[in-house]
Amino acid sequence: MHLVLLGPPGAGKGTQGKRITQKYGIPNLSTGDMLRATVAEGGELGSKLKEVMDAGQLVSDALILQMIEERLAAPDCENGAIFDGFPRNGDQADALSELLGKHDRLLDAALYFNVSEEEVLRRLSGRLSCPNCGAVFHVTDNPPSRGGVCDACGHDGLKKRSDDEEGVIRQRLGVYREKTAPIIGYYKEKGLLHEIDAGRSPDTVFEDVTSLFGKK
Ligand code: AMP
Repeated sequence: MHLVLLGPPGAGKGTQGKRITQKYGIPNLSTGDMLRATVAEGGELGSKLKEVMDAGQLVSDALILQMIEERLAAPDCENGAIFDGFPRNGDQADALSELLGKHDRLLDAALYFNVSEEEVLRRLSGRLSCPNCGAVFHVTDNPPSRGGVCDACGHDGLKKRSDDEEGVIRQRLGVYREKTAPIIGYYKEKGLLHEIDAGRSPDTVFEDVTSLFGKK
């Protein structure tokens, strides 16, 4: 099973991807998480990436494709993978089909999590992330039980992602509209697209996701 998760930042792709992994055992490959891990390691590449990400721009296709190709070759991806935050433009979508074809794999579906920009702004400006394990909270929708402490790993230091500042969120939404949204049509033409109303609670959205899995 190979699945692409599409939708603007803040649509809940990461949350739903993690739930799919928990329920079905397919690993969630989040290019954003991979990049943030490289940034956390420091070094020259890390600081270059941070600059691009904090400006709300996309990092180079070559680097993303190299990361995805290496990750997909790992043993845990033998039975498939979920692509969260990838592809982000038409060239990456073409590269993904080529890569899967080269390894005799097929894309089963692209789930498009549709949510309004207003809701994206509300969600991302209140989002708190754990720099240690990547768990995500929200100041009002899903507050951590003890101040800035992560309920998942106990790390004391939940923070706002540096690209979750309002100006950067708006920039990311612009990049999404211009570069990523057109690939919704690309997957629609291939008959792979499933649109899900992602403006609802994570539990309700996940019910729709699991019912799609049932049909497949
Ligand atoms: P995300 O965690 O998916 O919101 O991604 C955070 C940031 O990482 C994005 O704003 C981009 O700067 C970068 N990024 C993540 N995935 C990609 C991708 N597939 N192509 C290019 N840049 C990416």
